Amino acid sequence: MDMLRRPFVGTVIQTKTLNRQLIRVTVTSPELNRFEYCGPDQLVRVFLPPHPEAELVLPKTEAWWPELQSMDENQRPVLRNYTVRSLDPVARTMNIDFVIHSEHAGPGSTWAVNAIRGDRIGLLSDGADYQPPEDTDWQLLIGDETALPAIASIIEQLPPDARALAFVEVGDREDELPIARHPGVRFHWLHRGDTSPGNSDVVLRRLRETPLPTGRAYAWVAGESSLVTSVRRHLVAERGLEKLQVYFCGYWRRMETPT
Ligand SMILES: Cc1cc2nc3c(=O)[nH]c(=O)nc-3n(C[C@H](O)[C@H](O)[C@H](O)COP(=O)(O)OP(=O)(O)OC[C@H]3O[C@@H](n4cnc5c(N)ncnc54)[C@H](O)[C@@H]3O)c2cc1C
Repeated sequence: MDMLRRPFVGTVIQTKTLNRQLIRVTVTSPELNRFEYCGPDQLVRVFLPPHPEAELVLPKTEAWWPELQSMDENQRPVLRNYTVRSLDPVARTMNIDFVIHSEHAGPGSTWAVNAIRGDRIGLLSDGADYQPPEDTDWQLLIGDETALPAIASIIEQLPPDARALAFVEVGDREDELPIARHPGVRFHWLHRGDTSPGNSDVVLRRLRETPLPTGRAYAWVAGESSLVTSVRRHLVAERGLEKLQVYFCGYWRRMETPT
């Protein structure tokens, strides 16, 4: 079956508040059986109407990027990056977990908060990055709530004999979500408390004091940009991991508040 390489329309069938910061949106489309799923941190490009009353107009071809750029500003959809939390190609449904950046709600957060059954968005598969090499002995999974959909999916898809250590930053205990049990995974929720998202060093502090397993590591690190770069620096400079052993990606960047 040919996989879709152009954006297509997904229709909201359900939304569910998971915690104070996360909303799960379930979308359906007759074309979801042709969505290319490459791995547990699968990137889905989400095309949103440019404003709430606007009709959703999508680029029509595989050359979607230049098409998007040449669209009239009033029509051009807003593009954001999300992770496929789960995909059911038979039922043709997909779950996407949206973090609500409440202090600086952008178009993605705002759309998710207001989404109702029948709303339409554009979807496009754009690859996945999680790829532990064959000789990996253990894995380190680190992120904040924007990376939680990927980390939860990685754990669900780990082979039974895999070993992993996971650290996920959330606001507080009440923001923790159910995570699949795996005998080889030690999962740690870390709480930033009253510190605003993107401003906490709770992950780095915990990592510094954690003895790491022996053997060859593969680290997957995503979330707010400064969290990601500081963790990567620590792993390479202080823990002796080779740069190639660390996948890292800034999923969002904290906006500096003008003083
Ligand atoms: C591969 C990949 C996968 C991703 N998967 C997911 C996912 O599954 N779920 C998810 O929620 N996100 C995910 N993200 C992150 C998501 O793309 C960004 O958070 C995105 O910016 C959200 O869009 P928005 O319109 O809500 O906010 P934007 O308009 O993009 O944000 C506005 C700006 O405000 C700032 N800002 C936002 N929040 C804060 C804050 N709390 N404090 C200070 N400044 C802030 C940032 O500087 C940002 O540039 C992913 C990103 C990538 C690259």
